[in-house]
Formats: sequence, structure tokens, C-alpha cells
Amino acid sequence: MVDFVAPDYDVAIIGGGPGGSATASYLSRAGIKCIVLEKEKFPRPHVGESLVPSTTVVFRELGFLHKMEEAGFVHKHGAAWTTETSPSAYGVTFEGVAQASAVDLRFAEREQAGVFQEYTYHVDRAKFDKLLLEHAEELGATVVQEAAVNHIDFDHARYVEVGYKHQGTDRKLTARMVVDASGRRTFLGRRLGLKVNDPVFDQYALHTWFEGLDRGSSDKSEFIYIHFLPVTNTWVWQIPITETVTSIGVVTQKANFAKASGDRDAFFWENLKTRPDLYENLRKAKQLRPLTAEGDYSYGMKQICGDRYVLVGDAARFVDPIFSSGVSIALSSARLASLDIVKAVEQNRFDRSCFRDFETTMRRGCANWYNFISMYYRLNVLFTYFVANPKYRLDVLRLLQGDVYDEEEPPVLSKMRELVTQVEGNPNHVWHNLLGSLTADAAKPTF
Ligand code: FAD
Repeated sequence: MVDFVAPDYDVAIIGGGPGGSATASYLSRAGIKCIVLEKEKFPRPHVGESLVPSTTVVFRELGFLHKMEEAGFVHKHGAAWTTETSPSAYGVTFEGVAQASAVDLRFAEREQAGVFQEYTYHVDRAKFDKLLLEHAEELGATVVQEAAVNHIDFDHARYVEVGYKHQGTDRKLTARMVVDASGRRTFLGRRLGLKVNDPVFDQYALHTWFEGLDRGSSDKSEFIYIHFLPVTNTWVWQIPITETVTSIGVVTQKANFAKASGDRDAFFWENLKTRPDLYENLRKAKQLRPLTAEGDYSYGMKQICGDRYVLVGDAARFVDPIFSSGVSIALSSARLASLDIVKAVEQNRFDRSCFRDFETTMRRGCANWYNFISMYYRLNVLFTYFVANPKYRLDVLRLLQGDVYDEEEPPVLSKMRELVTQVEGNPNHVWHNLLGSLTADAAKPTF
């Protein structure tokens, strides 16, 4: 009987982070009745502060770009990577290119389809996520904060039932379909048994904000900096949040932290000490917040859509943040999912096949990010070589700008893989002893 009553909404969206808000914005613009259920009360802090240029495609399409400017987020014109000033690994010449101890790229070096500015942004996520959620509401989405989804029922023929707790009270609603944008909580992925932990990338991150860090006065002082530490598979991000506030995070393998005393502060500072230049500089700045830890964070899903559901953003896939891909993936997945959802609502058909275009394109993009990251961890020096080599520089920049969805495998990734295989197979290769311990086989399809 109940099955004949029209559902309350066309689409119910679980989570109001960038993935959920962007989905709600796209759907509302298309006249689709949707609701966002967000567990927290915004603003709330969140990791993931440095964006890549492809995000501006979504901001522009959603009429949000001017709000990014009005909010005064720091403009990010490029990215830089540094290592110890004189490690023996560097200075090695391969194919006529000497290894540099620092490389950088500026987004303006390559034109990007759909992007009409030479920079993207670093964001305070508390502020950014709130603005984007409010934008979705302005475009017509219903937004309920402090609404934690705790129940889902796909057993009805014409709708999905969603249960949630709102300010202490249990509530229910019905929708034609759901979008899971619950981030690394992976609400649906866990419930439906779809989640597969990454066999290789089991990282751990400690991060906080500093006031008054000296970022230098060059025209690159507001780039993101990735500082490699001499500790295996360990690096530090430096992200400008405001003129005076800088986000610093140490990313390592969880096993490294497990081997240490378990004291977060001690581990953070001990790692930084391995780069005395960074350490001295940070010690002069004022730490604004206690350290936050993020762990267990790489995984995929056996499927990212099904009958009456789609997973977007971190709810669908999480890859290591070394190339600042997360928010871009969340926004791009919202964009691609919305194209299929609009058609599904129009046709009143919600079986898995309706979301095939979304699934194919997302899997292709995420596989490219993942393979890029895998090869970076396998052979760090390869990355700096490719950036320093004019033959490959713009192809690497293209990936770093977030243009990863169009090709099954961009030629630059095939070339990287070819080189990794050569180095692995040749103990006399100048890079052989630089091979990392993480051996993700980039040739295998990702899950
Ligand atoms: P989220 O932003 O996590 O939003 C999910 C929302 O769902 C949350 O607000 C949560 O409260 C809500 N929610 C969860 N469960 C429920 C529920 N049951 N009911 C209702 N609501 C729920 N990305 C970058 O782009 N740049 C970076 O520099 C970067 N650095 C990173 C560093 C680290 C250490 C890590 C771990 C990640 C980093 N990321 C970075 C990734 C980035 O944080 C995420 O990819 C991005 O936030 C994903 O957006 P989302 O909307 O999918 O999920």
C-alpha cells in the first residue's frame, strides 16, 4: 500500500561535505527535489585544505566561483616539492636530466579546458564546506544539519527508506534514490559490504595549524609545499590557510607510527627533526591547535552504484592525499553522478545500469590518480625527474591539475610504469637502490 504513495524526495543525500553539497547543487539546479542530511552542525573542521584547478570547473558551473573570491581564500598558483638539500640520491643524472633537490610547477604553464584562471585555492574547510552547503540550500536543496543517518532500507519497490536521528529524535523519510556522500565514514559501503581496504596504502597523518610560520617572500610562498623527509614513505604538507596561518601535516605509513612510542606530539616533532631546515622554522611559529590524527585511510568499493544508489567522493574511494586530489574527486564525482541522476529521475528508472557512465568515468579517473600515486611511492625520484624533464613536464602538470578522467591511461603514466619496470629489473640502474618499499602493482586494475 505504502509503495503507491509518492516518495518525500527524489534524492536523499547522506553527508553535506563537498561531495554532498555539490551533488545537491547540481540536482537542485536541474529542478530535482533533494535533501541533504548532515550529521554535524557546520562550521566544523575538516582535513583536505589544498585544491587542484579542476575544482574551479565545478565552482564555475554551480555559480559558486564568486563566493570563493568573496570569502578571500588564498590563491594557489602552483605546487612545489623539496627534499634534503644535499642527499646522495640527488645529483644523479639520468637521460641527461640531473636530479634536483627541489622542483615546482605553476598552473599557468598549461591551459586547461573549462578553467579560466591561473590559480585554484587553499581553503579553511570549516568555512568552505559551510559556504558550499549554504549554496546548495540557496539553489533549492533542503538541508538538515545535526541529522545522522543510521538506517537504510532498499526493500521497497519504488523508494528507499532513510532513517536518521535529528537532535535526539528518530525520523524517517522516503526518496526515489540515495546518494552516499558520507566521506570516510562510508555509510553505505559498510552497510552493503562493498568496502575493500587498500592492501598497500595504510597511511597515518598528524596535522595542525601554525601562526606566523615564515613561508618566505618569493612568488611561490603561497604554493602548496610537499617536503619529503628522509624517513621512508614520509612527507610533510605545508598549506597556506590565511596570510599568517599555515597548515602542516606529517604523512607516514601507519607501521612507522606503531613502532614509535605512541606519543603523537613526540612522533610529529621527531619526524620533522629529520629536516632541520623545516624543524627550526616551525619551532619559531606558534602551534594553534592540538594535533589531529587521520588513519586507515585508503580503500575502494566493489561497486560505486547500484539499484537506487550512488556513492560519491570519499564514500566511494579514497586515495593517498599526496597530490591533493580528494576534494577534486568529490566535486567531479558529484558532477558526473548528477548527469546520470537527472536522467534517472526523468525516466523514473533507478537500476544500476542508469549510473554506468558515472561508474566508468569515475573508475577511470581514480585509477589514474591511484597509479600515479603508486608510482610516486615506488620511486620518488621518478616524479622529480618527470617534472624536471621538459619532455614530460606538462603531461605531469595535466595530472596535477586534475585532468584524469578522459583517458584509460595517459601516456605519461605508461612511460612512468615502463621506467619503474626497467629500474626494478636492473640492479645496476642508477635508481635501483632508491626503489621504495611500497610495491603497488600499477599495472593491475584497481578495485
Ligand atoms: P567529507 O568532506 O568527509 O564529508 C562527508 C560529510 O558526511 C561530513 O560532513 C560528515 O559529517 C557527514 N556524515 C558522515 N556520516 C554521516 C551520516 N551517517 N549521516 C549524515 N552525515 C554524515 N583533499 C584535497 O583535495 N586536498 C588535500 O590537501 C587533502 N589532504 C588530505 C589529507 C589527509 C590526511 C586526508 C585523510 C585527506 C585529505 N584530503 C585532501 C581528502 C579530503 O579530505 C576528502 O577527499 C574530501 O573531504 C572528500 O569530501 P566528501 O564530501 O566526499 O567527504
